[in-house]
Amino acid sequence: MTDENKPLRRETLVAQALGWMDPAHRSLIPGIFPGTTYEREGDGSYPTGRVYTRDHNPTYDQPEQLLMALEGGRDALLFSSGMSAALAVVQALRPGDHMVAPKVMYWSFRNWLLTVAQEWGLEITFVPNGDLAALEAAVIPGKTKLLWLETPANPTWVVDDIAGWARVAKAAGAHLAVDNTVATPLLTNPLKLGADIVMHSATKYLNGHSDVLAGALITAAEDDFWARVKVNRNAGGAILGPFEAWLLLRGLRTLHLRVQRASENAMAVARHFDGKKGIRLVLYPGLDSHAGHEIAARQMSGGFGGMLSLCIEGGAEAAMSVAARLKVIKRATSLGGVESLVEHRASIEGAGTPCPEDLLRLSIGIENVSDLIADIEQALEGRNI
Ligand SMILES: *Cc1c(COP(=O)(O)O)cnc(C)c1O
Repeated sequence: MTDENKPLRRETLVAQALGWMDPAHRSLIPGIFPGTTYEREGDGSYPTGRVYTRDHNPTYDQPEQLLMALEGGRDALLFSSGMSAALAVVQALRPGDHMVAPKVMYWSFRNWLLTVAQEWGLEITFVPNGDLAALEAAVIPGKTKLLWLETPANPTWVVDDIAGWARVAKAAGAHLAVDNTVATPLLTNPLKLGADIVMHSATKYLNGHSDVLAGALITAAEDDFWARVKVNRNAGGAILGPFEAWLLLRGLRTLHLRVQRASENAMAVARHFDGKKGIRLVLYPGLDSHAGHEIAARQMSGGFGGMLSLCIEGGAEAAMSVAARLKVIKRATSLGGVESLVEHRASIEGAGTPCPEDLLRLSIGIENVSDLIADIEQALEGRNI
């Protein structure tokens, strides 16, 4: 199928989900294996290597292999959510180990780091995003074991230099894990920039249809740290069901079309509202004016993704009134689906959030972009000021 001299391009791999065929029936679409247990030979061995569905289910194989190919990794693991994937990495650390994470990042994970992870004996330093010098200063040689990065980071889309973080990690003998949910493997490949582990909330762009909760990790090396991550999944059982794994693979097949369209739409929305009346600031890595645009242009290829934020003149109340007036764009949390969503992040994140009060986060979908722009325009006109 795949000529070794001519590796297939990623769009082809994605559309055909690696071109796997079910050997028994030659079905182009894989089966779903709901079975939880596998037969043992009379001599006690397991001929297929599969013992029990936590975590040996064959329905995981194809999506894991596809994600591994897309990120250019050596191994991949599916999880029951993005959060469980992230937790499996942090829980591979030992009490007393030190980790560094950015101040602006996915809020639920940051909250967990600030509470449970620290109570369990991890030392965690939060550094300002986009500041390599602060990162270098935060690293404690011999003690720092993990650097965690999210870029572009929720919900201001501040961009960090993955290669720079990887250099700091290498020098410290620490692992670098990158949450690549927002960029997707189509726009950024952190492993190729020196990261050790990539994490995805597959609930978002990878599945793309707002109907599956899933996470994934992809590793550059099958080292001791990765072995500990694997134990966490196998022992903890934070693995999605076979039906969800199958749905995820179906969603993945259109990843490149969805990401391309969402990126084009987001760029058009960002350009349209940049400098417009009623808008204090447009936050989108694709705009020249965005802090980190230069780095984004270097480490992202094929687009800047579908996530952007609009800061509304008039503060929190004005922003809430704009969200309330949107009709086409739905008020809901989450991101990366085919439908556009809006969220007032500060009120979701609560006290201590680094998110501006007047910020509306938009997950731009694949709709006709003129409908999206018209919807935002009519909402802005009627805002409370
Ligand atoms: C949603 C999200 C997560 C958490 O993933 P779940 O699948 O909801 O557990 C982590 N990081 C980012 C950037 C996200 O958007």
